[in-house]
Amino acid sequence: MTSVLVIEDNVANMKLVSFLLENAGHTVLQASDAERGIELAQQQHPQLILMDVQLPGIDGLTATRQLKSDPATCDIKIIALTAFAMAGDREKIEAAGCDYYVAKPIRYKEFLSLVEQALMQPLAGVSGTI
Ligand code: MN
Repeated sequence: MTSVLVIEDNVANMKLVSFLLENAGHTVLQASDAERGIELAQQQHPQLILMDVQLPGIDGLTATRQLKSDPATCDIKIIALTAFAMAGDREKIEAAGCDYYVAKPIRYKEFLSLVEQALMQPLAGVSGTI
């Protein structure tokens, strides 16, 4: 069984993503801000993190940089969840150390197949997007 940490401040998105992941057989850990998310990542060491980019307080890309620079959490794969579809996003997300990114609103099948892909592949930079 794999555990997936979802760091997302939007309640509806958190519910949707958690529902999809639990239905796919994953254990879901939830955090509504980056501070709690980083704490849970250090304590529970999930296999995968879904990181909302826009969070109150520490934003998702700053939190990703912190997790990727910490030897205790640097091997956890991170999928960025971004609301924007702007040209510069991919570069910013990649520069922060995210392994993949998903644009919201989430398309269920593509989202789940990216999650499975992320869980199966070794870390290799931004190599999958939907
Ligand atoms: Mn948000």
